[in-house]
Amino acid sequence: MRNETTNRLLNCAAFALGLAIFLIDALTTLDFAVAVLYVLVILMVALTGSMPATRLAGGASAVLTLTAYGVAPPHMDDHGHLVRCLFALLAICTTTMLALRMLADMAQRRLAEAALARSEAFLAEAQKLSKTGSIFIRFPEGTMVWSTESYRIFGYPMTEEAHLSRIMPRVHPDDLAEVQRTHAAMLGGAPLIELKHRLRMPDDEVLHVHLVARRTVSEGDRHEYVGALMDVTETVRTQQALQGTMAELAHAARVATLGQLAASIAHEVTQPMAAVIACGNSALRWLRRPQPNLEEAADSVEQIVRDASRATEIIQRIRAMARKSAPKYEQIDVNRLVVGALEVVRRELQDHRVAADLDLAADAATIRGDWTQLQQVLVNLMVNAAQAMATMPGRRQLTVSSRTTPDNAVTVIVSDTGPGIPPEHMTRLFHAFHTTKSNGMGLGLSICRGIIERHGGTIDAESPPGGGASLIIRLPLLSGDGSGADLRAQVPSAIPIVGSSTASHG
Ligand code: ADP
Repeated sequence: MRNETTNRLLNCAAFALGLAIFLIDALTTLDFAVAVLYVLVILMVALTGSMPATRLAGGASAVLTLTAYGVAPPHMDDHGHLVRCLFALLAICTTTMLALRMLADMAQRRLAEAALARSEAFLAEAQKLSKTGSIFIRFPEGTMVWSTESYRIFGYPMTEEAHLSRIMPRVHPDDLAEVQRTHAAMLGGAPLIELKHRLRMPDDEVLHVHLVARRTVSEGDRHEYVGALMDVTETVRTQQALQGTMAELAHAARVATLGQLAASIAHEVTQPMAAVIACGNSALRWLRRPQPNLEEAADSVEQIVRDASRATEIIQRIRAMARKSAPKYEQIDVNRLVVGALEVVRRELQDHRVAADLDLAADAATIRGDWTQLQQVLVNLMVNAAQAMATMPGRRQLTVSSRTTPDNAVTVIVSDTGPGIPPEHMTRLFHAFHTTKSNGMGLGLSICRGIIERHGGTIDAESPPGGGASLIIRLPLLSGDGSGADLRAQVPSAIPIVGSSTASHG
């Protein structure tokens, strides 16, 4: 509003000035190029910012200059009068052009500023929505620039100066060493940085952040980084909740498997218990003789201890499988894992008249994982194999082999001589609720896949045209630093059997 009034005043003043110049120019015989003063009129109009008005002022000034030249009383020096008129016209044209050029530049700058403000607003909104802030860091000073979202993530007001030293008090104490290591790498000029860590905010809330930064300048010991800082707290919490649900599902499936094995488990426990009773009775007989035979009695008691230990072992194994506990990642000897799983299903295999054959790698391959969950996978595959072979008239053979591979992985293959898996089922084999059994739930293999993937491994199936199925598990070997690589991004090194149908997951 204020602008409009000012513009109107400027226009009026310019009009009045223009009129005065015209009258003086037309009615007097001054020895002076009065018309040059029209440039003031043009500049006053240009101040309003209107290009058409400026153009009009320029045109009108030129016309008035020529009119005044035409109607002016005769001058003493006609030649000088003409030169002054031309000079004024030149000044008017030049000023008009410059004023128009300036106005065009201003308009363009205003547009660019508006576009910049718009894209800044978009960026700020996108950063807010995606919870991703941008940061700039300069080493060795540690000076930083944070976007609004970065300020929010670090929990500082925008008035605070951004600096590396402000981040350190926010870093979760357990992640401090890792963050310091990363800063040392940046100080050394590492080209690319990726770091996931936690922040502990003043109100004790824990945030999970993911920093990705790229070195943009590196001159001597001066390095600059531009990066994105993502607040991934919600994703991490969702993942944790999902993992909790997966663990519950895996536990439910484990209990269901135990239910399937109940008869054979009961049988297996009854056997040593019956032996305990028989040995106890015979020990008593040796002791109650008129001449007690202590040696024979001691033998029987030793046998009792062995049988009771065996029963305890079986019960402990079953209790471990039935227990609902958080995953415990530890160093695991793969061969021991296979033998342990086979122990759980030994009786079931016998009941199905399945011969089990172990072909384990000579060297002890160790991995990092949760024993109960990995055992659950093997038990599931062995039970599936036994059930697949249950209707087969001929030889029923289960083979479990383990091998280490040159790419630092261990492969465990559970093969059977059952009917195999039809090619049309291969793509859905690991999908939840895919089952061909009348009483099946179709969750076993999908849970197995989840467990193996959480261990950084893969699970595939192969079924050669001649029959039989092989379920192939690949897990990363334990590396020197106690961790295992993630095999899922790597190309599987297993050579597929030519002409067989395969399903692959992981
Ligand atoms: P469920 O045992 O409840 O059916 P799974 O996910 O364990 O669920 O198995 C899904 C399906 O995969 C089975 O119904 C069966 O058709 C097929 N399958 C799994 N293992 C084998 C195997 N060794 N041989 C043939 N088919 C198999």
